[in-house]
Amino acid sequence: MKINNVDFETYFKNYPNEQGYFGKYGGAYIAPELKKAMDEITEAYFTICKSTKFIDELRKIRKEFQGRPTPISHLERLSRSVGNAQIYVKREDLNHTGAHKLNHCMGEVLLAKYMGKKKVIAETGAGQHGVAMATAAAYFGLECDIYMGAVDIKKQAPNVAKMKILGANVVEVKEGLQTLKEAVDAAFKAYANEYKTAIYCIGSVVGPHPFPMMVRDFQSVVGIEAREQFVSMTGELPDAVVACVGGGSNAMGMFSGFLNDPVKIYGVEPLGRGKKLGDHAASLQYGTEGIMHGFNSIMLKDENGDPAPVYSVASGLDYPSSGPEHAFLHELGRVNYDAIGDDETIDAFFTLSRLEGIIPAIESAHAVAYAMNLAKKMGKGSILVCLSGRGDKDLDYVIENYGIR
Ligand SMILES: *Cc1c(COP(=O)(O)O)cnc(C)c1O
Repeated sequence: MKINNVDFETYFKNYPNEQGYFGKYGGAYIAPELKKAMDEITEAYFTICKSTKFIDELRKIRKEFQGRPTPISHLERLSRSVGNAQIYVKREDLNHTGAHKLNHCMGEVLLAKYMGKKKVIAETGAGQHGVAMATAAAYFGLECDIYMGAVDIKKQAPNVAKMKILGANVVEVKEGLQTLKEAVDAAFKAYANEYKTAIYCIGSVVGPHPFPMMVRDFQSVVGIEAREQFVSMTGELPDAVVACVGGGSNAMGMFSGFLNDPVKIYGVEPLGRGKKLGDHAASLQYGTEGIMHGFNSIMLKDENGDPAPVYSVASGLDYPSSGPEHAFLHELGRVNYDAIGDDETIDAFFTLSRLEGIIPAIESAHAVAYAMNLAKKMGKGSILVCLSGRGDKDLDYVIENYGIR
């Protein structure tokens, strides 16, 4: 399939280019000393990821530690409740630690091991990326420093406890608003000092090159498995594929399996409380081109051109931008991006739980809500949704704010 000279047959060879660009999006806008460190990671990645030893070890980890392949479930009762189109979910909630994040964390930390690094450094907001990193570091026996704002540490006590139990060092960041932004700055600073012995690991398909590419490649296991499983289950490709988009890693993983197929692809952003700036985090819907956190993409800006405050009921989706590859696929029109608000998301959270016995992460419930609307519109055919994670982490929040429906 070809759109505007972009040939999806050979897409992964050509995108990103050597400088890390997907069209005009991507790149590495960082201080020279960090650029050196990123170049080292890029070079190591290109050599190591082709070695059979690395590939075999990652394959073994996927199977024996993570529990892959995760299944696809046909949601017959949910489908019937919205018409005749059939909804299926790729069960990343059944991946070890309960979400897709471990797919790229295991890859990143395996790379760190091959590069001879002793320590991994990362930041975390809600704590999900921190827990996945701490898990991977424990598996490989590497040290792990997780930078986290003091406010987030208070809010996310269970995840902080998990990280500590897994042996990670949780570094409290007390600058500014004491949340994710300050944690990112602190982690970058630490990395600039320690890059000879440590590696910095990003939590999504964002940040400077090579991370958007590397995280996509590690997450592509989701789309590769899903395509194979779906075809062997039903004898055909799905008509539509749907995933939620925060930074965009679960979506890129899923989409990468279907870019060259006659399949409609939908990315679902969080519309939060509504369209007003500050009430949502639908960056591709309402944002403009800009540079943040080391890469060029579409972002939500405040009046000074800085990243705007954003909101979503799903803490994993409230990021003021999305990965550069999403900005590119959006511009090309290969992927359709739309947004779903808090209320519809919470409805879908309860409906999926009641009708199918699957309690989804609130992030994933955005994709489920969108798929239910799409099923009504389509009236027939099939929709495959990436169920990025399970809802255990969200139960207290949902009960406190919405009660039990
Ligand atoms: C972190 C997270 C997300 C959002 O991250 P992406 O990089 O956009 O995939 C989505 N779902 C779950 C369950 C998460 O933990």
